[in-house]
Amino acid sequence: MRTFFRGANLLDGTNPARADVTVVLEDERITHVAGPGDAPAPQPTPEDQVFEVAGKTLMPGMVFCHFHPAYDNVANLTDIDLKHPPTYLTLVAAKNAELLLHSGYTGSVGAGAANFIEVQLRNAVEKGLIQGPRITACGRDVVTTGDSVDMHPDWWSLKMSGLARICDGPDEFRKAVREEIKNGVDIVKLYVTGGHGLPLDYEVMSMTEAELEAAVEAAHERGKKIRGHIINKRGILASARAGLDIIDHCDGLDEEAVDVVAECGSYVAPSLYFSWNILDDKKRNGTSSFESWVPEMERTFESHARWLPELEKAGIPVLLGDDFGVGWMPHGDYARELLAYRDAGVDPLTVLRWATRNGAAVTGRADELGSIEVGFLADLLVVDGDPSQDLAVLTDRDNLSAIVKNGEFVTCALKREASASAAQ
Ligand SMILES: [Zn+2]
Repeated sequence: MRTFFRGANLLDGTNPARADVTVVLEDERITHVAGPGDAPAPQPTPEDQVFEVAGKTLMPGMVFCHFHPAYDNVANLTDIDLKHPPTYLTLVAAKNAELLLHSGYTGSVGAGAANFIEVQLRNAVEKGLIQGPRITACGRDVVTTGDSVDMHPDWWSLKMSGLARICDGPDEFRKAVREEIKNGVDIVKLYVTGGHGLPLDYEVMSMTEAELEAAVEAAHERGKKIRGHIINKRGILASARAGLDIIDHCDGLDEEAVDVVAECGSYVAPSLYFSWNILDDKKRNGTSSFESWVPEMERTFESHARWLPELEKAGIPVLLGDDFGVGWMPHGDYARELLAYRDAGVDPLTVLRWATRNGAAVTGRADELGSIEVGFLADLLVVDGDPSQDLAVLTDRDNLSAIVKNGEFVTCALKREASASAAQ
């Protein structure tokens, strides 16, 4: 049986919207994309299912590239690693994976989950046990002593190992990365600098260049990706030069940093929603619950608004995704992130390309995901309205008339045409 969508407004992930397009799926692949002036799509037979989607937009499923599936209303460190047992957090992660998929994201790239929860989440989704996006799984936070999540006092003697893998020196980093891979991760997460809500300051380098190089080499040698929390310029330069795949946050950009990142080929995941959301809250309420962070967040948002067009010009792929699951950014609001980029002055088509094509590319699957093209896997959305006119339509899950992953409907509120009329 084939599936026909007829009369769609098509956003293929790159080009401006195209009206009145028929898209045909067979099994998990897209077999025809035919608009006015193209060779016509085949006629459906009574065995096929046909949906008339005039007035709706068909676009690729989005890829959320900074996912913490097991964060549950996190206000401080203990909420991540002491408040709940891993068994409970695994259920939280399963719920959030389903929620992410139902929010229009057919892919995700992890940015850290304790106890290898995301590895098992990926396995459970792949086995069809639970619903979720195509998951690129991340593991523990690989950090130096006293950095990031290594904040519990030593005299507590907690000896916890589920959230953080603490290591110092290139040899320990090499070993830590190999352990992560042994435990099944697809991508490793490092913490390279302070800033952006962490206890260490903005300008602090928490890893040395030698540690970075050893970690990246160990990941790449075994065919895995590696990403890092990087705020200041020194960290950006060192990480790009070491060959890090994804630079998270990347606040301290300037002309030199843009040139180096472009030359070295890293992706950038600005996580702009984090700052936009705190500033939006302040704007609406006159005060913020994170008042002391406001100056840094203002600097961050302005810097990204200034440099995002330069990243685009330099051909540096930008990724979407952010720290949803921290207390003031609830899971489920994922697509509100698109509005942060809109408000930073990025045009909607570019934001959509970042959310679809770039997400597919960073997982190494640009040749079959992230676009609506013949031969590509059918990960797609049918949306009420046109996101290229107004990104906000994606923030309401009720506007997602259908979500298709790997050729199968995850949800479908569309009315199927009767077979007899479909064949006419
Ligand atoms: Zn994060």
